[in-house]
Amino acid sequence: MVQTGLHHVTAFSGPAPRNLDFHTRVLGLRLVKKTVNFDDPGTYHLYYGDAAGRPGTILTFFPIERAAPGRVGVGETQETAFRIPRASIGWWTHRLIEKGVAHEPLVQVFGEPTLRFRDPDGMMLALVGVDDAGDEAWASGEVPAEHAIRGLHGVTLLLERAEPTAAILTDVLGLHAAGREGNLIRFAGSAAIGGLVTLRAVGGFLPARPGAGSVHHIAFRAADDAAQAAMGEALVARGLHVTEQRDRQYFRSIYFREPGGVLFEIATDTPGFAVDEPIEALGSALKLPAGLEPHRAEIEAVLPKVA
Ligand code: ZN
Repeated sequence: MVQTGLHHVTAFSGPAPRNLDFHTRVLGLRLVKKTVNFDDPGTYHLYYGDAAGRPGTILTFFPIERAAPGRVGVGETQETAFRIPRASIGWWTHRLIEKGVAHEPLVQVFGEPTLRFRDPDGMMLALVGVDDAGDEAWASGEVPAEHAIRGLHGVTLLLERAEPTAAILTDVLGLHAAGREGNLIRFAGSAAIGGLVTLRAVGGFLPARPGAGSVHHIAFRAADDAAQAAMGEALVARGLHVTEQRDRQYFRSIYFREPGGVLFEIATDTPGFAVDEPIEALGSALKLPAGLEPHRAEIEAVLPKVA
């Protein structure tokens, strides 16, 4: 079956070492790729995910040493949620307390226990306890596989109006309506991991301001180039501007701004993160695309040291 839903979420952060420490040590995600921002090679692009870096498990960051904080607002991803086994909510609540991570009281959202917290840059994150979380998990030094994050659960977008964005999700990106709760309207893809996009319509709210802790874009899955091209054509037919395909080394991407103002990407499932280093070694070396390899020494000289 064709897998639809989120491929990855990409955000801005402050200093790289702090970002790496929080997401790999506190949250127990695997660093699956250490590379640079292809559009700005003097900065890192860090990819976190599960053991194999499967689509739907990926959260990535552009760390900027002295980034001003962003402000959450309309036209942006408000919250990025991870899946954990339902029985692990208590374990994670204790862990956040133990690590000094402030969190909100546990709430039920669409019938699922949801623990909201922020990363060191103020990025709004949540852990959601789900049934059938699956057994595939990355066991880090501090987070055993039993409780480990199973990938993205979904994102919540803050919008002036929900309908125009909803139409793109259902008519182009392969998601379907999956329920309403208060001012939340939920859509689901066919993939269990990273399958959910929830729209929160809040007319009259301030627009988002990008900065540390804010999401730059969210990426949806396309099985291959042909599926991606068909989606691109459907967007153009709706009068949206879509970029040319860009080679991101681990997937190929097109980008467009959806009607609600959020930057969307459509990324291919192939070739994946094992294209330039074996699965066992993912994230261990700084990887550069062929075009930047001749500049490795200069690039390494300006990047801050991380593990
Ligand atoms: Zn992306």
